[in-house]
Amino acid sequence: MKFTPQVGLYVGALAALTTVAHAVPTISVTPPDKSRFLVGQRFDLRVEGKPATGSAITAGTLAVDGTPVTFSSQDSFSGVTGYNLRAYSNAAPGSHTLTATLTDGTGTATATAKFLVINPNGGRRQSKNIIIMLGDGMGAAHRTAARIVMGGYSANQSVPLLNMDGFPGTGMVMTSSLNSIVTDSAPGMSCYSSGSHANNGQEGVYPATFSTPFAQPRVEYLAEYMHRLQGKNLGIVSTADIEDATPAANVVHTGNRNLGQGICDQYLDEIGNSGLTVLMGGGRRWFLPSTSFGSSRSANNDYAGLPADLTAAWNIPAGTIDPNRDLIGDFKTAGFTYASSKTDLDAALAGGKVPAKLLGLFGYGNMNVSLDKIAKRRNPSAAGVVDDYHAPDQPMLDEMTGAALKTLGANSPNGFFLMVEGAHIDKQSHLMDADRAILETIEFDKAVGAARDFAASNGDTVVIVLADHECSGFSVIGALNNGPNGGGGTAGSIANLKSKASDAAATDPATTPIRQGVVGVYDAAGFPAYTIAADGYPAQTDIDGKLLIGFGANGDRYEGWLTKPLPVIDSLLPAAFKTELAGGGVGTGQKYPTEPINRAESALGFFLRGQVPGTQAVHTATDIPISAYSSSNRSFEQFIGVQQNTDVFFKLARAAFGGY
Ligand SMILES: [Zn+2]
Repeated sequence: MKFTPQVGLYVGALAALTTVAHAVPTISVTPPDKSRFLVGQRFDLRVEGKPATGSAITAGTLAVDGTPVTFSSQDSFSGVTGYNLRAYSNAAPGSHTLTATLTDGTGTATATAKFLVINPNGGRRQSKNIIIMLGDGMGAAHRTAARIVMGGYSANQSVPLLNMDGFPGTGMVMTSSLNSIVTDSAPGMSCYSSGSHANNGQEGVYPATFSTPFAQPRVEYLAEYMHRLQGKNLGIVSTADIEDATPAANVVHTGNRNLGQGICDQYLDEIGNSGLTVLMGGGRRWFLPSTSFGSSRSANNDYAGLPADLTAAWNIPAGTIDPNRDLIGDFKTAGFTYASSKTDLDAALAGGKVPAKLLGLFGYGNMNVSLDKIAKRRNPSAAGVVDDYHAPDQPMLDEMTGAALKTLGANSPNGFFLMVEGAHIDKQSHLMDADRAILETIEFDKAVGAARDFAASNGDTVVIVLADHECSGFSVIGALNNGPNGGGGTAGSIANLKSKASDAAATDPATTPIRQGVVGVYDAAGFPAYTIAADGYPAQTDIDGKLLIGFGANGDRYEGWLTKPLPVIDSLLPAAFKTELAGGGVGTGQKYPTEPINRAESALGFFLRGQVPGTQAVHTATDIPISAYSSSNRSFEQFIGVQQNTDVFFKLARAAFGGY
């Protein structure tokens, strides 16, 4: 989901505040009250606040369990004064208390916060490899829809399961962030990868007032913790632009998820902390010098000038504003083999050879959706959507996952942490493009199968499948049917649907739109039956009796029930690409819609007034399903039941350290 960039000030919610004495300065302490950490997990301590009007902060103190700490820096920005101790950790399991004070000319304010330290170590057999399969925005209904399309239901018969359905440990996860019941993908992912809640739009940091969001107080990610203590390597694979929140929230620490250049630079700049070995997805635009075709690098989305105590304590560079950096070249210098296409990827792994490290950038922004990638594979000679996106030869997510597992498996004697994201389940649900969202779920499930096969054949691996949140209130409402208003023709046929005149202008509730009448509900939905082609995807999506999807968290749109011929122009593309697509694209000459409501073919449907502002669907606070599998131990059992999102982090850590 597009997240509105914060401009200028990064003034986070002061969520840590628990008690304020009678004095006048405001005060907050970081980490927020009731945070939880692993034994020895690193995080930054901070006390900040504003003085009373006309006064100035003169002193700050912080004590852990009554013992004063020595701050490593003091800063002042936007009228807020802060005191920091970077990369603190605590080795003693149990509850601890932070007591902070800030003093100005009018008096002293006090705040307290508790945090809990948890020991993940134990004598059980450790999971050497940790794999998170993250279907962005994937709720239960996305899984249901993919299962119906792939396997079909029929009366009184058993239903073929998705790969993820077959995992033995299934539960539910709550998905709130630090500042809302409804999360975006940045805290959605970093809850699983850091154990701490973050504010929306932020990943791997706590809210604080700094001149750059990259300086906000950090919390160590699981990948960093395991690399430091166990020597594990890290792999990140996504169909998104690799700057996007979900991939970045495994290793990049920033209070602004939209600063793509700084985020992509940090993947490489902080490789010493993460053991990053595989990075694959879209987002080539951030890796090309600003003067190159398709580059989005510019001076205003980078990181630079990180505080000296931060860089010293975490052993990272301060950063440089460098729009002309050749980041692909720098990755190659660091030992990465680079693939820009499926052909390149196949070549990198041809004949049983395995690269030491692998960088794959298969699109300039987000990679294309499986529906459009498959269309090109089925008809290579015809210009298609992928040509218009300047990325005609993209791998599927299961192919990327297989390459990642080969590379990590061969180069990680101490094991690895791999996160694989099916990004467009979310993105196409925002756009209320039901068939593209369903096919992306199918593509994601094939990648789940690749991860499970690796775990089964290599042992000592735990795989969890989950989402960061649900998106769009996705709902399986029925199937195409002749219905009471359907009139004539073959029951539920596409031909019948296409024969219906437009009633896009009918907005009076007293008028039943014709295409609303073709929705078969209850027994009229029957059992939609798709034909699966040899490539593993539906031969067609517009079949007679097709599955129909409703959106419970929708923006304004027209609904016509047919597969949308073109995707909505992706928000994460170089600006010139968007302009080109809006004008028709380079290959097909077809004009791409800029928003769901602007689809030319949508006028053939009927108008639906959304209950949320705008023309896109939104994330919901609905719990999401989690499915877990583990080989060589029973750590999957931890994930059965209902749990908080931050619980998942501690359960994965226990799997890795044998303490479950
Ligand atoms: Zn989203």
